[in-house]
Amino acid sequence: MSGLLFGTAGIPRSASQPHTTDGIARIRGLGLGCMELAWVQKVSIGEAKAAEIKAVAREHDVVLSVHAPYYINLNSRDSKIVAASRERLLAAARKGWLAGARNIVFHAASYHDDPPEGVYERVREHLREITGILGEEHNGVMLRPETTGKPSQFGTVEELIALSREVPGVGPCVDFAHLHARSGGACNSPEEFAHVLRLIEEGLGRAALGDMHIHVSGIEYTDKGEREHLNLAEADLRYRELVQVWREFDIGGMVICESPNLEEDALTLQALYWQMGG
Ligand SMILES: [Zn+2]
Repeated sequence: MSGLLFGTAGIPRSASQPHTTDGIARIRGLGLGCMELAWVQKVSIGEAKAAEIKAVAREHDVVLSVHAPYYINLNSRDSKIVAASRERLLAAARKGWLAGARNIVFHAASYHDDPPEGVYERVREHLREITGILGEEHNGVMLRPETTGKPSQFGTVEELIALSREVPGVGPCVDFAHLHARSGGACNSPEEFAHVLRLIEEGLGRAALGDMHIHVSGIEYTDKGEREHLNLAEADLRYRELVQVWREFDIGGMVICESPNLEEDALTLQALYWQMGG
């Protein structure tokens, strides 16, 4: 895959039916290239359904990823929650792989006032074990911890790059809206966008820039970080400059739009990207 594919977080709003397979067909009908399966409450699909999704995605030439359940916290003080979090991530990876998805996005942990270095080590050890289990199952997914929208949540770019260096099978999901929100309004200029990509190139090599997984939306935030996702036109994220920087660095991979209007902003970003490539 070269260049960027654009798509939606979940089924496009204009799909004929609110079903995954109709969503995949609609992605192709809109001229988009990818879709993230929003398994954000729980992973409930069976193996036959996963196989059907894989076949439909292949038929329509749509690349799939998975967003694992929100209820994952590898740093919970409750060991039962940690165990359940590991199972949720494993379930998303197993069913996602059967559905033809490679990138499995998740929010790794909260800090809970623990020192970030300790949280980092805990998350790293869990991910080493989880990728080990998946490797034994010959599951080829890439686990993608996401840059989070609140400073109380584990997931800076630096933390995710370090994890990706230390744990094979892990790579960052860079949510540019979250980076903007968690910093209270920074990370919103060409220089800052470029800084993020340069960190990834320095930490993970040029190949990582060719295999990015990106989330974008407009976003409302306070000094505590993210409040809610907005459409790009209603928010202050400088998305034109962001797309320009993607072009300058000649990155590849997937861009998933999480604006409330889903496919409209995905198409806006894709159109800008294509214009700038001409
Ligand atoms: Zn997310």
